[in-house]
Amino acid sequence: MFTSSVNPYFKKLLAPRRIEYLALDRKLSILDTSLNVHRFAEQPDEVVKGKDARLGFPELIGLEEVFSEILSGEKQNFDLKGIARSSDNGSLLYIDISVSKYQYNEEDLEEWLIIFFDDVTEKMSMTQNLVQRTNEANLLLSALTSSKNYIDKIITSIAEVLLVTTASGKIKAINKAAKDLFGYSEKELINKQISQIITDNDFFQKARLLYPLSPGELLKDVEVICKTKNGKDIVVAFSCSAIETDIEDLQDFVYIGRDITQRKLTEAAVQQANEKLTIWVNELEQRNREITLLSELSELLQACLSVEEAYTVIVQMMEPLFPDTVGGVFIIHPSKQLVEAVATWGEDAGTEVYTSQKLFSTHECWALRRGRSHFVTNTHNRMLCKHLHPNPPPAEYGCIPMMAQGEAIGMLYVSPLEKERLTEAKQRLAVTVAQHIALALANLRLREILKNQSIRDPLTDLFNRRYLKESLEQEIHRAECKQQPLGIIILDIDDFKKFNDTYGHEAGDAVLREVGLFLQKNIRKGDIACRYGGEEFTLILPQAPLDVVLERAQQLREKIKQLQVKYHGQPLGTITLSLGVACFPEHGLTASETIQAADMALYQAKTQGRDRVCVCGS
Ligand code: GH3
Ligand code: MG
Ligand code: MG
Repeated sequence: MFTSSVNPYFKKLLAPRRIEYLALDRKLSILDTSLNVHRFAEQPDEVVKGKDARLGFPELIGLEEVFSEILSGEKQNFDLKGIARSSDNGSLLYIDISVSKYQYNEEDLEEWLIIFFDDVTEKMSMTQNLVQRTNEANLLLSALTSSKNYIDKIITSIAEVLLVTTASGKIKAINKAAKDLFGYSEKELINKQISQIITDNDFFQKARLLYPLSPGELLKDVEVICKTKNGKDIVVAFSCSAIETDIEDLQDFVYIGRDITQRKLTEAAVQQANEKLTIWVNELEQRNREITLLSELSELLQACLSVEEAYTVIVQMMEPLFPDTVGGVFIIHPSKQLVEAVATWGEDAGTEVYTSQKLFSTHECWALRRGRSHFVTNTHNRMLCKHLHPNPPPAEYGCIPMMAQGEAIGMLYVSPLEKERLTEAKQRLAVTVAQHIALALANLRLREILKNQSIRDPLTDLFNRRYLKESLEQEIHRAECKQQPLGIIILDIDDFKKFNDTYGHEAGDAVLREVGLFLQKNIRKGDIACRYGGEEFTLILPQAPLDVVLERAQQLREKIKQLQVKYHGQPLGTITLSLGVACFPEHGLTASETIQAADMALYQAKTQGRDRVCVCGS
């Protein structure tokens, strides 16, 4: 039955699929085979109709129970997969076996077992290939994963901040250092704009200029101001490079940065300290210069012989001591009411830079009124002195009283041309300079007073006999050199004693004072009037020849009679003079000879009856 009707059908159906079959009876004897089923057999020669199939296919041994279950309908089918066979050429052949019951029709009482052999060698090798590929792929994947993990670990562990953004600045990746530094979680930064943390627009400007960055091009160590989540500004040194994405011509940016806030703070602190140090050094140098100038000023002032000379020195020294200032040294008049500039500097007549009047009342200056320095600076004290020119008043100035022996003798005025120059150091310097000047001027004044006292007669304020001797020697020497004449008049008040006797000694003093004043008024500039002693006076007339001297003597004799001296309202009567005249070189070749000659002439005038002029030897 099977052979006649089914076999052709199977053969037709299975041939293209290279599936072979065996039909077996209950005892597993071969009933039918497909054409090439032998090639799947272990023992091809045993695959013969009527022979036990287990001889050709030993795999079937032990499956008898399974077969009977299939035949009884307990089991539908049974598969054995992947049976390996060595083929003749030594290559391996793989077969899948599928066993099932075959019953042609309902009425057919014969039950067969049909075993299909499917050549799965190709499938198996493909599977094996696939498995191998998969394994390889898995190995690769695991290598890749471990490599990625390794890189991730590196990225995570680097202390530098790492950020990857798209070209438009959207953050794609960050590392732990970035999260830690900026204080954001990954979620808070991913897909956000980088401008959320980099607030420095200049940086983007720079980055944009370079975009697209050519490979290998690097924006290196650009210092950028960033903002952390809690709003703190930090400085990060970023390097930025571009990496190509999968999409052509589209780059991502990789930012690697280091927090340099602390470094910047330290740098700023160092710079600040440096600047401070430079300022200190400059100030020290300036102080040094000032000390040198101050000691120079002091030395020069000490070497001065008169206050006028001192004023010249002050003007010279003030400009270097107080550069870019206007100022002056003011002296209080003996009346103590007025103050007058005796030395000024920094003036510019054309532009009227000078900011103070040059003559004003002492009460117009706060420093003189209060007896202490008065500084007006931008920051404090706007009490302006009245002696300033009001339109406009100086922005800054200082008035420093010059004190000597507890008394103000004048005032030092300093006003910088520019604002904020009257520093505390300058103020201290001005005070010191004022002290130096005050001391020097007071000394010079004292010296002048002493000198005056030693050469002047206190009653008449005419020069005394000592001065006469000195100056006469000098004048005769000069006359000798220039071959010029010199006249001497010695005059004596006639009967002076009677003034004393009649009106008292003080009245006599009054007469002497008035005669002194009279003589002072009636001599030329360059002539010298001295009180020779008692009521005797000497006049020295340089360059005057005898006739001129004589004439002058006569004039004096005449004029004195008009002098009305009163004492306590009482007229003291007419004064007459006896005068002796002598000339150099006619009457003497030395000072003492000439004086002696004049003295003799006076004696002559007295003896001849007083109120007259006599010339030596006549
Ligand atoms: P003769 O005409 O001869 O010069 O007479 P005389 O009185 O002027 O001269 P005498 O020498 O006899 O007297 C001078 C007097 O002047 C004597 C002296 O007491 C006085 N005498 C000198 N010095 C001063 C002085 O400083 N003040 C006053 N009041 N008298 C003085
Ligand atoms: Mg006399
Ligand atoms: Mg006399």
